[in-house]
Amino acid sequence: MAAETKQFQTEVQELLNIVVHSLYSNPDIFLRELISNSSDAIDLARFEGQTNKNIIEEDPDWKIKIIPDKEARTLTVSDNGIGMSWQEVEENIGTIARSGTKQLLEQIKQQGGSLSPELIGQFGVGFYSAFIVADKVSLVTRRADASPEEGVQWESDGQGSYSIDQVHKEKRGTEVTLHLKEEDDYDEYLEEWKIRKIVSQYSDFVEHPVVMDIEREEKPKDEEGNVKEDAEAEKVVREEKLNSQKALWRRPRNEIGEEEYHEFYRHISHDFQEPLDYIHWNVEGTTEFTGLLFIPKHVLPEMTMPENRHRGVQLYVRRVYITDNSEALLPQYLRFLRGVVDCPDLPLNISREMLQEERRVRVIQNNIIKKVVDRLTEMKKNERETYVEFWKQFGSILKEGVYFDMSNREKLQDLLLYETSATEPGSYISMQEYVDRMPEEQKEIYFVTGEDRRSVEKSPYLEAVVSRGYEVLFMTDAIDEWVVQGMTEYDGKPLKSIAKGDLDLESEDEKEEKEQERQQKREQYQSLVEFMQEKLSEKVKEVRISNRLTDSACCLVTDEHGMDVHMEKILRSVNQEVPQTKRILEINPDHRLIQNMEKLVEKDDNKQKLEEYADVLYNQALLTAGLELEDPLQFSQRVTQLMAADAEQHS
Ligand code: ADP
Repeated sequence: MAAETKQFQTEVQELLNIVVHSLYSNPDIFLRELISNSSDAIDLARFEGQTNKNIIEEDPDWKIKIIPDKEARTLTVSDNGIGMSWQEVEENIGTIARSGTKQLLEQIKQQGGSLSPELIGQFGVGFYSAFIVADKVSLVTRRADASPEEGVQWESDGQGSYSIDQVHKEKRGTEVTLHLKEEDDYDEYLEEWKIRKIVSQYSDFVEHPVVMDIEREEKPKDEEGNVKEDAEAEKVVREEKLNSQKALWRRPRNEIGEEEYHEFYRHISHDFQEPLDYIHWNVEGTTEFTGLLFIPKHVLPEMTMPENRHRGVQLYVRRVYITDNSEALLPQYLRFLRGVVDCPDLPLNISREMLQEERRVRVIQNNIIKKVVDRLTEMKKNERETYVEFWKQFGSILKEGVYFDMSNREKLQDLLLYETSATEPGSYISMQEYVDRMPEEQKEIYFVTGEDRRSVEKSPYLEAVVSRGYEVLFMTDAIDEWVVQGMTEYDGKPLKSIAKGDLDLESEDEKEEKEQERQQKREQYQSLVEFMQEKLSEKVKEVRISNRLTDSACCLVTDEHGMDVHMEKILRSVNQEVPQTKRILEINPDHRLIQNMEKLVEKDDNKQKLEEYADVLYNQALLTAGLELEDPLQFSQRVTQLMAADAEQHS
C-alpha cells in the first residue's frame, strides 16, 4: 500500500490536545501507558498462540523492551505482542471508534475544554499521552499473522495529521518511538535511573518482563569463569529486567507460602522485619477487587512524616500502579497498613480527585474497614499477646476512628485497650473487661487523662475513686481526649472524667448519711471558703469543700463543660489559642493545713499570712494539675519564707 498522509478525525485531535494538556503535570505516566499497552498486546498474542502455534514458535520469549538512544534523543518501547494491521492502526490510533466518546468530548467542551477528573478515566488515552513528552511519535508494527512485508509505520507530530506507510518489519509486535521534546528535563527519560524509577513505581507488577540493555564496565573472565583481576575493564551490555513481575496478590492464597508473603511485604514496605500479620482476600460481585494488606510490627520511619502519612497502600488496576495516595481507600485511622489493593474494574486513568468520588472506591473502603476491624477483633480475642504488641505500636492511631468514624464506632470501641489503676504498667484491659469488673454499685466508667502513667497515678483526683475499690482508666495518649468525646458511654455506662465536675461517688444512702456532716463542714469552713474565694477571685471560678480528696490538701477541678487540663496542654503544645479556663479549687476539710487555716481565719490579726497560704495552695494545685505557675519566682520566695518561719519555730 502506498504511503498516505491523513488528517486526524477532529475529535481525535481535540482529545489528544486535552490529554496532553491535562496530564502535563505528571509526564511520567506516559511510560506506564505504553508498557500497559504492550503488556495487553502480549496477552492477546499469548491467547492467540493457544490455537496458532506459529506465534509461539516464532518468538516465545514474551517481553517489553525499553530502548533509550541518547544521541537521537529517542525512547522506544518495543514488544513482541499481537501487533496491528494497517486497518487496526487506523482504527485504533487515528479515529475514535468507541461509542459515546463524541458525546463525552461535547461535555468537555462545554466545561471549558479541560479534561475534568470525572471524565479522564472514561477515555483510553494511553497512547496519546506519548505526546506529553514527545513532539514526534513513530509506531512500527506487524500483526502476528502477517508477513514481514506487511509491517505498518505510523508517524505523527500530534498536530493534526499523521502519515501511514507499509514497511518491512522482521518480527511481529509493536515498537513505539518517542522523539523527546527539546525540554531539558525530558532528557531524564533517557537515563537508566529515571527509567528504572518509573518502571519500578508504575509497572513493577506487570506480568511480562520489562527489560533494558544495561552497559557496564566489567573485567573479563577466564575460561573457568574467574575474574581476571589484572585485565582492563571492558564494556559489556546485558539485558536486565526492571520489574519484579511478582504480583503476589493475584495468586490463590493456598498456593502462597508464609515466607513469600513476608518477602513481598519487605519488597513493598522497605521494612527489614517481617509483618505482624496480613490479610489477603478477594471480593466478587458488582465491585471486584483483591486486597493484600499487612500490619507492620513497628512504626515505620515514614509514618511519622506528615507528607507520607497516606502512602501506605497502593492501588492497582490489573497489576498497573495507579496511586499510593491511599486517602481515598483507607480511613486515616488505618494508615499504619501497608499493601496493595487491585481493582480491575477501575479505569486506568482514574485520578486522585475522581477516586474520592467513585462509588466503587467507597465500597472498597467499607470492605477494607470491615476486614481489618474483624481481623483485629479476632486477634484480640484469640491472640492477645500479638494484639497487645499491635496496640502498643498503633493503638493511638486506631483510636482516632472512635472519634471520626461514627458508623464503626461500636466495633472500634471494643478494640480499645487501656492501662488502669488496677493493672501493672504494660498490661491492658478492654472496655468490656472494665465493665465486667465493675462492682455492682459503680454506675460510671471512670477515667483520667494525662501525659503518662506516672503523672496520672499521682493525680489527687484518683484517691477517692480508687479508695472505693473502683478502677480508673488511664488515658495517656493525646488522642484520648477526642476518644472520650466520641465515646460518651460504653455498654450503657457513661464515661466520667474524675477530674471534671462534681464527682458523685456515693449512693443515695451514703449521701443522706453524710449530708449532715457535710452541711456542718460547709458551715464550719464557710468563712475560709469565702476568704479564699475573694482573694483568688481572679484566678479561680469557685472555692469549695471537696468530696474527692483524701490525702491532698487541695486540687483544681474543671467544671462539667470546661476544658480539661490535659486537653488545654495539648492545644497549647500545638500553638492553639486557648481561652483562659477558670477552674474550681477544692479544698480538703480533713487536711491538717486546711483545718489550721480555718482557725486562722477566725482571728482578725493574721490575714496577711492567710492570704499567702491561699496563694501557695493555689499554686500547688496548679503544679499537681501539671499547669504552669503564673509567677514561679514569687511562689518559690513564698515557700522559702514559710519554711524559714517554720524552721525558726523549731530551732
Ligand atoms: P487503550 O489502551 O485504553 O485502549 P490506547 O490509546 O492506549 O487506549 O490504545 C488504543 C488501542 O491501540 C489499543 O486498544 C490497542 O488496540 C492498540 N494498541 C496500542 N498500543 C498497542 C501495542 N503496543 N500493541 C498492539 N496494539 C496496541
